[in-house]
Amino acid sequence: MTPPATRSTPRLRNVVIVGASLAGHHVAATLRRLGYQGTVTVVGEEVEAPYDRYPLSKAFLVGTATRAQLSLDDTVPDVEWHLGRRATGLDLTRRRVTVDEVGELPFDGLVIASGARPRDREAVAGIDGAFVLRTLGDAVALRKTLQGQRLRVVVVGGGLIGAEIVSEAARGGHHTTWAHSGSLPTSTSLGTLVAKHLVELHRAAEVRIEGRQRVESLGVAGGRVTHVNLHDGRRVDADVVVMATGTLPNVEWLGAVVPTANGVLCGPTMHVRGTDRVVAVGDVARAPHAALAGQAVRVEHWASARHQAELAARNLVSPPTARRGWTELPTFGTTIQGTRIRCVGFPGLADRSDLSWGSLDSGSAGVCLSRRGQVVAAIGVNAEDSVDRLHRLVRGRPTVDHLGNSLRPAAPPGAPLHGQDVCT
Ligand SMILES: Cc1cc2nc3c(=O)[nH]c(=O)nc-3n(C[C@H](O)[C@H](O)[C@H](O)COP(=O)(O)OP(=O)(O)OC[C@H]3O[C@@H](n4cnc5c(N)ncnc54)[C@H](O)[C@@H]3O)c2cc1C
Repeated sequence: MTPPATRSTPRLRNVVIVGASLAGHHVAATLRRLGYQGTVTVVGEEVEAPYDRYPLSKAFLVGTATRAQLSLDDTVPDVEWHLGRRATGLDLTRRRVTVDEVGELPFDGLVIASGARPRDREAVAGIDGAFVLRTLGDAVALRKTLQGQRLRVVVVGGGLIGAEIVSEAARGGHHTTWAHSGSLPTSTSLGTLVAKHLVELHRAAEVRIEGRQRVESLGVAGGRVTHVNLHDGRRVDADVVVMATGTLPNVEWLGAVVPTANGVLCGPTMHVRGTDRVVAVGDVARAPHAALAGQAVRVEHWASARHQAELAARNLVSPPTARRGWTELPTFGTTIQGTRIRCVGFPGLADRSDLSWGSLDSGSAGVCLSRRGQVVAAIGVNAEDSVDRLHRLVRGRPTVDHLGNSLRPAAPPGAPLHGQDVCT
């Protein structure tokens, strides 16, 4: 049901969405589901119809998922799509978005869903054998290459996507090296306990790990990558290099028209700060989460993109008094070296991880991530049926004492979580 309009409800007849991927598509679907009857125009730089990215570093990369299986489930009725078109400017006063080869699109409601891009896309451009992984095109090219004979694969970057690619390359029989600049790869995303466990599994799969190593440059001969140069002066020979070094939010097309700082700065309702008709959602948005006492975070997870899209669509068509804030906890799942992982909360805030139940070595476990004794995230390892339990752990925010450890509570359960700026 569309919330009842009041005099202070923005009268929306014409919504433009920039970004035709998970978040933009879900805003369009939600608006229609809510009964919004005005026009919906979606502008997307990729020529592809919207698709899911998460299988690109997993099942799609190893050929067990097809293109058709990436398609987003719900078809959205009555949408004007401009695919293969890039938004290049925004005029908030005249309420116009400028789009390449289309011209100016007028709007009375605007959704910024332009996502993020790999930090090192330009560094690999034009070099055979060097890749980033974000789009379907990236994944098709990398998949084709990895289907060849045993190759020397170097993955650069110690985050989740790096870990997933390392895992799939090693399982595919390639001689795999993982170079990362931190002390423990994936610890920001999974905490130290799970990250250490995964390092053991990677090593058992014969992955060579080069920790505390920045890659200074790629070695190239005849247009092909030949090696990476590590900052300690050594080189690692390579047939394939994948730069999984994080993302940058796609905000340049906005100029200085809306506030940005590692993403588009939003209020809790996903409205862009200082606006009443513009929302931002998904990987491009940086918004305050209810559990973090107003601290703004940019979360790059599938479920958060969908939650924010749903929330923003509702808030766009609601009067100010009926708008809600962002409260859904971030969640994600992945499989690395055959180990299935589910995470709830803000692992990037944690300064400690403790086993909550089970055992990592015996296969199935729950791990509690805390900051100054307060639970900030929970992780299930090979424990698919534990998702509700993980949510309860973080929602209830027990102190670590409640789980049988000796830390003193730092804050009453339910108090906001405080911490450094996090990108999860
Ligand atoms: C390889 C990979 C694996 C992942 N695995 C997982 C996982 O296991 N679990 C999980 O929770 N999350 C995962 N993610 C993250 C998840 O896919 C993202 O959170 C999600 O895609 C965010 O959706 P979005 O619509 O906000 O942004 P995006 O998917 O980045 O889409 C933004 C779209 O906007 C377009 N665009 C940008 N600028 C413009 C412009 N100026 N004009 C027009 N269009 C523009 C872009 O081309 C893009 O199509 C993964 C991501 C990748 C890349």
